[in-house]
Amino acid sequence: MQARIDMLNDERLTGKGISAGILRTDLLHEHYGGNKWYKLRYNLQAAKEAGAKTILTFGGAFSNHIAATAAAAKEHHFSSIGIIRGEATEPLNTTLSFAAGCGMRLHHVSREKYGKKNTPEFLNELRAVFGDFYPIPEGGSNTEGVRGCTEIIGPAQDDFDTVMLACGTGATLAGVALSLQKTKRVIGVPVFRNGAFLQLDVDEHIRGFLRHYPAHVFEKPEILLQCDYHFGGYARQTGTLFGFVKQFEEKSAIPLDYVYTSKLLFAFYDLAQKNFFRKGERILLVHSGGLQGNTGILRKYFGKNESI
Ligand SMILES: *Cc1c(COP(=O)(O)O)cnc(C)c1O
Repeated sequence: MQARIDMLNDERLTGKGISAGILRTDLLHEHYGGNKWYKLRYNLQAAKEAGAKTILTFGGAFSNHIAATAAAAKEHHFSSIGIIRGEATEPLNTTLSFAAGCGMRLHHVSREKYGKKNTPEFLNELRAVFGDFYPIPEGGSNTEGVRGCTEIIGPAQDDFDTVMLACGTGATLAGVALSLQKTKRVIGVPVFRNGAFLQLDVDEHIRGFLRHYPAHVFEKPEILLQCDYHFGGYARQTGTLFGFVKQFEEKSAIPLDYVYTSKLLFAFYDLAQKNFFRKGERILLVHSGGLQGNTGILRKYFGKNESI
């Protein structure tokens, strides 16, 4: 499915001789639109083919992936288990109460334990507690997740020169890069500190995908990271960022999430202002979703009673 593209109508862009559209993958599904929709589809298909009844996955307490997996599992008639990083707090936040409402069983583990989530020992321990399940890694960031992300851009690339997107694990960036023609470029904006190392993870995701799907033709577009737009770290906010989101939403009527797409759009406007793009360049910005997490971020920064 191809998401809609909303062109940005903005004199700050026309003044620089560039144009930009936003690929609204956030609109693909009410509860799990965004890149998680793409990252889950082949994972769920693989789970079905394996005859699995139960999906187990991992995430933080505000995780878009946890919310998306809970909703998608329910829709596709799987049971689901969410292994949540850190101790439980009562009452459940909006992300976790949504997931629980979809029928996901939530199991909190210490941060230390969570760090072992990819070891066979930990999975065996979980099997002893929960019985058989089909594991999907944090963020859905495995080969099947990357495969789904190769379908995000589709034929829309013919109308653009550059794709820009926000990065966590880099799996989405890898999938998008795998799908682009060699004349295109893709710019990733890591949303955490010291993002430069992500290049290695992106390369690893690409290599892993090509090992599984050797017939795939990878044209090797240019891949760039812009690492200076983390605003202090993962899920960190500043007044500047809140102000930018408010002003952008008022002007465009496109909602942004505070963890990923806000930093992406800020990076885009800042780079445009600094003449990073060449005249005539057409940029496609991927709206990767994540709006469900905004309630939690606003509570954290403004307290419980702030209207949202
Ligand atoms: C998970 C997520 C990302 C990051 O995707 P990666 O493949 O981990 O890089 C970006 N945007 C949103 C809204 C997300 O939920």
